[in-house]
Amino acid sequence: MTSEIQQRLADVQAEIAAACQAAGRSPDEVTLVAVSKTHPAEEVVTAFEAGQVDFGENRPEEAVEKIAQLKTLQPDAGLRWHMIGHVQSRKARLVVGRFVLVHSLDSMKLAEKLSRLAQEEALTLDMLLEINISGEQSKYGFEATKWKNSRSVRESLWDDIQSMLNMPGIRLRGLMTMAPIVEDQELARPVFAGLRELRDTLRQEFPQSQWDVLSMGMTDDFGVAIEEGATLVRIGRAIFGPRMVR
Ligand SMILES: *Cc1c(COP(=O)(O)O)cnc(C)c1O
Repeated sequence: MTSEIQQRLADVQAEIAAACQAAGRSPDEVTLVAVSKTHPAEEVVTAFEAGQVDFGENRPEEAVEKIAQLKTLQPDAGLRWHMIGHVQSRKARLVVGRFVLVHSLDSMKLAEKLSRLAQEEALTLDMLLEINISGEQSKYGFEATKWKNSRSVRESLWDDIQSMLNMPGIRLRGLMTMAPIVEDQELARPVFAGLRELRDTLRQEFPQSQWDVLSMGMTDDFGVAIEEGATLVRIGRAIFGPRMVR
């Protein structure tokens, strides 16, 4: 078990390095977030012992429990936790102060709630805007499918972003998206390219923020995501194997 996770981790790191090289990028530009959802805390320890420090979870309750277990198992580990899944606003309190980055800021309502909670705790939370580029109904995120062609889509998104930039306690660091599940990762490329173009545009529209993080790419499509500029990839199955039943 142990060696299996460590071997897979090494394979993923090698694939990331190869994708960076092919794209003429430095591997230092890409952070690997190991997505441990459904897997027990012991497997996180195994990956940590192999040098992995950034971990992602997609459900607040599961994450809170695992973070507490890790504190017991590895008190000095200095693990960095990322919230990558939808946070219902009634669960918002669970993510405050526990994560280095919330990738899934997907509504104004959640932004307002997190801003308020962060102020109560005198914290500033780093976040990514989750963007729905693919247009799939099933996806969370700010609607931006037609941002290039539709003035009204842009205006609405720009208004929301301006409001969030004015909210105390939250700091927008960049964008996150999920590509559709496709057979061939080439089919995900336009989604990733679209997110990068949107990021480049936001850099010009809202220079008060850095927009330096692009969270995109999972087990089946991270190679293409890196070619299209991902600075952070979220990889679960390729490291931990098939997901456990919750
Ligand atoms: C589960 C999950 C991942 C990882 O998916 P894999 O296909 O296992 O690599 C990445 N991002 C989000 C938001 C997820 O929920």
